[in-house]
Amino acid sequence: MVAVQSWGRLGAAQHHTQSLSDRAQVPAQLAAASADAPGLAYGLGRSYGDVCLNPGGLLWQTAALDHYLAFDEASGVLRCEAGVTLRDIQRLCVPRGWSLPVVPGTQFVTVGGAIANDVHGKNHHLAGSFGDHLRRFTLARTDGSVRECVPGEPMFAATVGGLGLTGVIVDAELQLKRVPGPWLTVETLPYRDLHEFFDLADASEAGWEHTVSWIDCLHRAGRGIFMRANPADLDLSLPPPRAERRVPLVPPMSLVNRLSLKPFNALYYAAKGKRATSVQHHENFHHPLDVLRDWNRIYGPRGFYQYQCVLPFAAGRDGIRALLEAISAAGMGSFLAVLKTFGHRESVGMLSFAMPGVTLALDFPNEGERTLKLFASLDAIVREAGGRLYPAKDARMPRELFEAGYSRLAEFLPHRDPGISSAMSRRLMGQ
Ligand SMILES: Cc1cc2nc3c(=O)[nH]c(=O)nc-3n(C[C@H](O)[C@H](O)[C@H](O)COP(=O)(O)OP(=O)(O)OC[C@H]3O[C@@H](n4cnc5c(N)ncnc54)[C@H](O)[C@@H]3O)c2cc1C
Repeated sequence: MVAVQSWGRLGAAQHHTQSLSDRAQVPAQLAAASADAPGLAYGLGRSYGDVCLNPGGLLWQTAALDHYLAFDEASGVLRCEAGVTLRDIQRLCVPRGWSLPVVPGTQFVTVGGAIANDVHGKNHHLAGSFGDHLRRFTLARTDGSVRECVPGEPMFAATVGGLGLTGVIVDAELQLKRVPGPWLTVETLPYRDLHEFFDLADASEAGWEHTVSWIDCLHRAGRGIFMRANPADLDLSLPPPRAERRVPLVPPMSLVNRLSLKPFNALYYAAKGKRATSVQHHENFHHPLDVLRDWNRIYGPRGFYQYQCVLPFAAGRDGIRALLEAISAAGMGSFLAVLKTFGHRESVGMLSFAMPGVTLALDFPNEGERTLKLFASLDAIVREAGGRLYPAKDARMPRELFEAGYSRLAEFLPHRDPGISSAMSRRLMGQ
């Protein structure tokens, strides 16, 4: 057995592991292995909590399912195995004028992981989430069967955002979108409070492809820095993305704490809180943290949680204000705090996270009971607002909050594969 962690480093549970590398063999491998005990697919473990963990059980590692199967340069249709990373796709396709239509905040994510969490990016208001651009995928089930799933079918909608619980995605066909090149024109605009944030978000939706904002989680009014970007048709000889560095070790305690957070946020706002226009490489804009490998170590040996919720627009302004007040009164959080509006479209997946509304995502060093107590008060605000939490980031949400937030849960459950289980499914679905 080996110790496996997810991105939050909240613990290292022992797992049996099996690498999947030959897609023709996958159905037989699943059937043979799951006869003993349920297994679970594992991509790159970039989920923060327990959605990708199966403590004491088996993980099917998919990273070696890394072959491209077909790419039509005229139509931008790409077929590849499920362990191919989004970074590999972007580095292959962007120079050819095609891009993934949706990318999350890190590129170190597999295609299978992106489907299973139906990930979103900074362009949700125009492009929806990852599942909206899927043309088909192949799903292997632990009874040895194989299904080709296409949009409109129940198994497609159950698997997109299905938390890996309907089978193992073996390969997928994606529709890429045209891009003029790797560059983006980026505008940076400071905002002093949540009113200004919502005004900027409204004003930017039609004319800007990507919008996102950093928010000072200790500032009760909700000041922050809004960023909006569009693809730029520029032939530049600017320097390529910055070289990657690595956090070399786990410090004995979290470097993010009450002492460091307030001055950091104040300094960051003072330094960056000026209206500016720049040209940025798409990797730097979309994945700024990817240049610092293992940055999750800065939270020390106890790890960290991320709390990401979405609140419907109707309750969004009051709800976000209430969340910020609770967080700033507790003096907790981190400088990694993001506020963004989603678009008005419903997601294709039965358990997809994204819905029309406003999403807040914040990291919290793990301070044990103190952190969990704060989360309980945040949960009450989310519940009251009719919102939901993001399973990809979660390690502790109560089952009743999950059930309240995901109204299509009953429709999803019959599509589960009985040979698959995760720590999260046992916590939130009871098996
Ligand atoms: C720095 C950072 C920024 C992020 N930003 C965003 C963001 O902006 N938007 C967003 O939506 N998410 C974001 N995420 C979360 C991340 O995109 C998701 O957790 C993603 O699903 C991780 O993919 P993975 O390949 O590492 O899968 P894992 O984390 O290993 O697994 C995730 C889930 O996918 C399932 N799975 C994996 N492969 C398969 C397969 N082949 N078949 C079936 N199921 C499978 C697993 O069982 C598990 O349920 C971010 C994460 C990090 C670390």
